[in-house]
Amino acid sequence: MTDRETLRARARELAAREAESFAASHPRARALAGETGRHFLGGVPLHWMLDWGTPFPLSIVSAEGCAITDADGHHYVDFCLGDGGALFGHSPPAIARAIAAQAGHGLTAMLPGPDVAAVGARLEAIFGLPFWQVTATASDANRAVIRWARALTGRPRVLVFDGCYHGQVDEAFVDHRDGRTVLKAGLVGQAPGAPGSIAVPFNDLGAAEAALAAGDVALVLTEPALTNTAMVLPQPGFLEGLIALAHRHGALICLDETHTIATAYGGHIARESLAPDFFVLGKPVAGGLPAAVYGFTAAVEAGMRGVLDAKAPGYSGIGTTLSGNLLAMAAMRACLTEVMTPEAYAQMTALAGTLADGIDAEIARRGLPWSMIRLGARVELVFTDTPPVNGAEARLALDHDLERAIHLFLLNRGVLLTPFHNMMLVSPATGAAEVDKLVATLAAAFDALLGAGD
Ligand code: PMP
Repeated sequence: MTDRETLRARARELAAREAESFAASHPRARALAGETGRHFLGGVPLHWMLDWGTPFPLSIVSAEGCAITDADGHHYVDFCLGDGGALFGHSPPAIARAIAAQAGHGLTAMLPGPDVAAVGARLEAIFGLPFWQVTATASDANRAVIRWARALTGRPRVLVFDGCYHGQVDEAFVDHRDGRTVLKAGLVGQAPGAPGSIAVPFNDLGAAEAALAAGDVALVLTEPALTNTAMVLPQPGFLEGLIALAHRHGALICLDETHTIATAYGGHIARESLAPDFFVLGKPVAGGLPAAVYGFTAAVEAGMRGVLDAKAPGYSGIGTTLSGNLLAMAAMRACLTEVMTPEAYAQMTALAGTLADGIDAEIARRGLPWSMIRLGARVELVFTDTPPVNGAEARLALDHDLERAIHLFLLNRGVLLTPFHNMMLVSPATGAAEVDKLVATLAAAFDALLGAGD
């Protein structure tokens, strides 16, 4: 078997060859990047768009279903799906129709329209929580939940898990290292001082209880599975135990299902009948239009009303102007009624299972010490043979050299994976032929890394 260092060295060589080949076959994207560089930081509207590992970004002219076409006329099968914003495919027809129908009749008015009632009914029917608020992004929803939790409990701190990511949320920019809570590496413009959060290892109820016992935690914020540092699944009983612990110690708890919504219809909250105080969902909830929701219990809603009644006049610190706008609500209504359906999930998760099995077989055939982790329609290739149980183990499974080489190899052969993840999403528009293509191309990437045929 090839050792890790040899594989890494091969990966760097392979990535260099693939980057050259990308540059040669994307002259139009190169020219566009030259133009955009004059007006945008890094030539892109958001600097993350530089993280794909390509010498300059792809320029997308069309995205429909699971297919993307770039400015150079290349076609791709998309397993990134906007990192989940397009989990249900690009421009699902029902959502595109709803957006078109609303577009001529008002985009935003800072007032509700008739779609709001229908959206509320669908949200309760799917996720079980009776009360909701809408924000523009999942980051905003998490920030709102944190503020509400502080207001409701009178406590200052937030408990998160090592390896977590909840969007642009200061309180969640912490990890657990050597028994201490530390700021994540790489932050830009961080305000001085501690963010007042505690990070403990995932799947460790003892550590969570020790942190909660201090009595100053307002909110426990977690994904049901950690999906932003490789992938860490919850051990049986962990989530139920965590909810019980939070409540025993007077804290509120929020499940952020922005990514784990790929697990099953209704996410973990519905599939496992979990009873958190808050629930957050962004990204695909309006088909990829900027919109997110947070749900909460009747008890939380009663507390919120009390807070609003008692507060001094002035801005609450919660909310943004475009949240819950007319266009977003129309798109959300279409998504929740016509697109995010049990039938769509049945198809997505079955095909994702086929995909994971196919890749597992290619890994086994080559004796590679890697594995596939499954979470419904979301599957992840991790560079360890045993699934990580916490953030520290998940970090050991990351390998940016291998990842970049594999991603570029796939991209040059018409398959897109999410940068900085080895994650693959299967949408309702993805078919067996696309899955076969990914498995076969990934197998060829493994052979290129192993030097087969050298
Ligand atoms: N929560 C989780 C679990 C996420 O993975 C992300 C983004 N990857 C967010 C929240 C933030 O989403 P957004 O960037 O759309 O605000």
